[in-house]
Amino acid sequence: MQLYNTLIHSKENFIPLEENKVKIYICGPTVYDFCHIGNARPLIVFDVLRRYLEYKGYNVVYVQNFTDVDDKIIKKSIELKKDFLEISNFFIKEYFIDADKLNIKRANFYPRASENIEQIINFIEILIKKEYAYEVKGNVYFSAKKFNDYGKLSGQKLFELESGVRIKLNNEKREAFDFALWKARKNSDPYWDSPWSEGRPGWHIECSAMVKHYLGKTIDIHCGGQDLIFPHHENEIAQSECANNQKFVRFWLHNGHVNINNKKMSKSLGNTFAVRNVAKDFGYETIRFFMLMSHYRSPLNFSVEAMNSARLGLERLYNCLENLSFLSKKACDNPCDNQSTLEKKLKKEINILEKKFFDNLNDDLNTAGSISALFDLISTANKNLNTYSSKSIIKYFVESIRKIGKILGIFDKEKKRNFSDEIKKMLDERKESKINKNWVKSDDIRMRLEKLGILINDTPQGQHAVWKDFYE
Ligand SMILES: [Zn+2]
Repeated sequence: MQLYNTLIHSKENFIPLEENKVKIYICGPTVYDFCHIGNARPLIVFDVLRRYLEYKGYNVVYVQNFTDVDDKIIKKSIELKKDFLEISNFFIKEYFIDADKLNIKRANFYPRASENIEQIINFIEILIKKEYAYEVKGNVYFSAKKFNDYGKLSGQKLFELESGVRIKLNNEKREAFDFALWKARKNSDPYWDSPWSEGRPGWHIECSAMVKHYLGKTIDIHCGGQDLIFPHHENEIAQSECANNQKFVRFWLHNGHVNINNKKMSKSLGNTFAVRNVAKDFGYETIRFFMLMSHYRSPLNFSVEAMNSARLGLERLYNCLENLSFLSKKACDNPCDNQSTLEKKLKKEINILEKKFFDNLNDDLNTAGSISALFDLISTANKNLNTYSSKSIIKYFVESIRKIGKILGIFDKEKKRNFSDEIKKMLDERKESKINKNWVKSDDIRMRLEKLGILINDTPQGQHAVWKDFYE
């Protein structure tokens, strides 16, 4: 499998360091608000990466942190007159509600900054001892210039950065690009004891300390949004490689921005969309599917039209699965004579389309191309299967579609389709009115059913009814 590695600006063949084991770390959210569409993208695309590696037989250890000590959380805790932990605990709980509904597999570990202070302090002590960090009045800073490779991820050189950006020197830092590892306590901020002061960790250090503690000194894949490349990931590399004397991350993977109606999403523009609000209109699964319809590195434009077309696409897939399960009840046990040549040809075609699906995933996780192979598979099924088909060819299609769905993390849920006797009666009446070509009556029943939350699909094999939320 080839993956685009930000570190070398090109695709590279992915082979894990340890046989059969892949260590992945993903920067998680700062928990002071609900998960928004921009947060959801890395969760979803890298969840597919993990699922695919697991499908390939690797034992994946997946770690995602929660930044639960941070200026924004402290600000919110002062506004709401609540303890900072009360704020972060609340948003972590809410995070899991959204992540579970988006069908994100749970990580093996969810370390939190506030619960890893000891690891963080130990890490800073190593950096001070090796003279990569210095203390001033209870604050500890990392000396960026001491790390020769500083800038290797973002491709920026320190002296260029210094001339290009004016950074206010706080007269404690020796150089503009030095960054805080430990911050001495101010006012009523949360704090912990440390060898330097009562205080709290800076943001970047928590990821370096957690990676080392939960995964080791060198990991296979570190992922996150493009906006984290500089300075966050650059600083993680500097801290970890100086402390550990060895390569920190082998593959750096970054997903593109999410734009809203072609404008960059940001809190200050007020165009961030909470996942749960979008899900009210489109369903969580549509959000997931929408995110996978583009390549993870390209910018993604969120709009109502794009969400509607994602929903329609997902409905097409569900319709096909529904048709196949309906058809398999009527199908022949063995291929009828005139079908067996066609079915042999179909099996070959399924294999070719599956290969197309996997080839795309192997090419830097191109889920967009993979999904197009899935649609081709559906079209082939819709075009070629009918009541003369055999149970075995239908099963072959269903298994292929389900296998693909499992890797993409879609149609995982068992959908229930029990209807009350009253609804069953209406469905029978509609079927009959169609047979009798009483279109007015059949349309009327269809509308009445729709009001009850039931959608009807008319297919060459007959009418199908599903609950509207079936697709969500
Ligand atoms: Zn991080």
